[in-house]
Parts: sequence; structure tokens; C-alpha cells
Amino acid sequence: MTTGRILIVEDEMQIAETVRLYLEREGFSVMVACTGTDALGAIKDGFDLIILDLMLPDMRGQDICAAVREFSDIPIIMLTARSSEEDRISGLGIGADDYVVKPFSPRELVARVKAHLRRTKKTERKELSFHHGDLFIDTASREVRKGGRVLALTNTEYRILLCLAEHPDIVFSRQQLINSVQGMDFEGFDRVVDAHVKNLRQKIEDTPQQPAYIKTVYGVGYKFLGRPQK
Ligand code: CA
Repeated sequence: MTTGRILIVEDEMQIAETVRLYLEREGFSVMVACTGTDALGAIKDGFDLIILDLMLPDMRGQDICAAVREFSDIPIIMLTARSSEEDRISGLGIGADDYVVKPFSPRELVARVKAHLRRTKKTERKELSFHHGDLFIDTASREVRKGGRVLALTNTEYRILLCLAEHPDIVFSRQQLINSVQGMDFEGFDRVVDAHVKNLRQKIEDTPQQPAYIKTVYGVGYKFLGRPQK
């Protein structure tokens, strides 16, 4: 039986209740917020994951996402009726971990929820230090430090970084990166990975335009430069 507290932020009650039913059947405890204001009030109660509709009556989902990211790295899965690649990319750019396009299969959404929570809870301890401690990853606390300062990474950014950093010099295609971070086959766009990598570079690189850690291998994907030190 799975456990975890999920917040659904969705004003279409039929969708919200269907998703609630599926999640509760899996053992999750679920709360539904119908407006952005309710959601922001509820989020402080401590949830394990947020399912966030982008189109709400009072606020944009993107603004809620950005507000949550001010204080939390909780996994956020966006629900979007929009199918344009641009909209999805902009959602990931403001810190969501994943998205599902409406109409969606509740089963698939539940599978995504489980995958994200599984990844969050993985606690095998490993400490990776690069460039004399300039970049430091502690997998037990899920903490990444740059120059001694703790970075706020989304779960997806963290997983992409860990996947690359655990395999220095190995080139990963964008599809491989998506699969490794989602834990399942994922119909992704290459630009989704590019958007995550761009965010990551802003956080871990001294000069994001000339990355010292995550190198683009043109026409193939990405690889991590640098070897972990003891
Ligand atoms: Ca809506």
C-alpha cells in the first residue's frame, strides 16, 4: 500500500474527484483545492506532491508553481489543456517536474505520481564532490551545494543532474535522460530536457553559456564533465 499526501489543485470538480478516487484507491490521502487562493493556503500543511491545473478561476497555475518553489521542492505535476510545446516548456521553466495533457488517463497520472514519490524517497547514501567541492551532491539528504551554498533544485533537475554526474563522460541522449528521470517510458520532447538542463546550468555553472559541468554533445545529447573526488 502506498502512502502520501497529495494536493489536487483543480476547479473542474469532475476531474478532481476522478483523480481523487484513483489516488485514494491506491492508499493516498488527498485534498482538493478549487482555487489558487485555497491552494496556496493549503500547501503549507505539508504535502508530498501537488497535481496542479494551469487554468484556474483566480490565478494562473504557473504563478502558483512559482510561489511554491519559493519555499519547497515538492514534486509538482501540471495538468494542462494546452497541447502546444511552448506552453509545456514554459511550465517546466517555472519549476514543475512533469506535466499531463488533458484529457488524460487517471491510471497514467497515478503511475506518474508513484514514480515521482518513489524517486523522492530513494535514500541510498552517496556523496559526490566535483572540482574540489565546488559542486557537491549528497544523495541521502538530496542536497546539492555550489560553492558551499545549498541549491534549490526541482526533483527533475536533481534527477537529471544525478543521472549525469554518476556517469561522468558518458553521453546521454535526451530520450535516455527523460526515461531515467521519469522511471518509465515517457513521450517527451527533446526541448523539455533542454529546458531542464538550461535551468540546471543557471544554478550549477559559474558561466552557464560556457558550462564546466554539463556539456552539450551536438546532435546527441549531454554528458557530465568532471570526476568525483574522495
Ligand atoms: Ca481548470
